[in-house]
Amino acid sequence: MRLTVLAGGIGGSTFLRGLLKARPDAEITVVGNTADDITLFGLRVCPDLDTVMYTLGGGISAERGWGREDETWVIKEELAAYGVEPTWFGLGDRDVATHLVRTQMLDAGYGLTAVTEALCARWKLPVRLLPMSDDRIETHVVVDDPEQPGRRKAIHFQEYWVRYQAEIPAHQIVAVGQEKAKPAPGVLEAIADCDVLIVPPSNPVVSVGTILGVPRVREALVATRAPVVGLSPIVGGTHVRGMAEQMLTSIGVEVSAAGVGLHYGARTAGGILDGWLVDDADAEDVARVENAGIACRAVPLMMTDHDATAAMAAAAVDLVRGDRP
Ligand code: GDP
Ligand code: CA
Repeated sequence: MRLTVLAGGIGGSTFLRGLLKARPDAEITVVGNTADDITLFGLRVCPDLDTVMYTLGGGISAERGWGREDETWVIKEELAAYGVEPTWFGLGDRDVATHLVRTQMLDAGYGLTAVTEALCARWKLPVRLLPMSDDRIETHVVVDDPEQPGRRKAIHFQEYWVRYQAEIPAHQIVAVGQEKAKPAPGVLEAIADCDVLIVPPSNPVVSVGTILGVPRVREALVATRAPVVGLSPIVGGTHVRGMAEQMLTSIGVEVSAAGVGLHYGARTAGGILDGWLVDDADAEDVARVENAGIACRAVPLMMTDHDATAAMAAAAVDLVRGDRP
């Protein structure tokens, strides 16, 4: 079975680990979000691609959920000693090697797709990881300027999330560069040519939303012959971890399992979903989703361990494939 999965960072990669357990023989292509990417100290950092790579490659810090296991922070301390900004971003020593390789290859003229493939080769990744685009797209967030009361300013999403912990109101979210970007090589084919397309419980705005916003990607999902199934990132009216709540609020989408499903919409009505899984806690949302023309079931959706996550992944595939192997 060929599966294509759109993924953000922690939610996407945790789900992928369960999917690999549930469907060990599947050929999996991951379209990763690159709108979190940022250049720091001259290095190109791709947080979501690296989270998928380190998680599936076995190098992730289990405790933090991002960056490398057994990390040290000498470079960060040295940069701080020079008084170099920003000081709020955690760039570990092992992690820096990844960014050095990436930046060197990008500077030599390779596209991000080729660079990502080269990085993933080291980790013997059990999936094919494609960035959503080789072009630069960066999410910026319009916030009240913390230094100048009464004024607003746009800051990089990483600054909003890492520095301000998503605790200041987000008035607007803009994916800078998106309208001129092209899907990366292989992305449209992976969407058109698979047996099931899965939207994991990733952030619907700044992970899945930015992937869908790359020109022609949403259209490819609407048109693919494969069934499209998603899993709610909202359980019992809140995100489990992360900041889906803040992001949904700032784009005016109801923070609920049904709200996100209806935001993605039914394929029969120009949306992207054939099926939607909600958590047992949100069983009362099922009827609303089904009335909109999306097959819906309530199952446990908490990714507490690999087995629970594998069961979610299996239920997602089953929802749109019935009993077919
Ligand atoms: P990020 O890029 O690291 O923020 O990760 P993603 O965008 O891939 O996923 C983040 C989202 O995953 C969070 O905003 C949550 O809504 C969702 N999430 C995290 N853990 C769980 C879980 O155990 N179950 C479900 N259903 N959603 C989760
Ligand atoms: Ca992310």
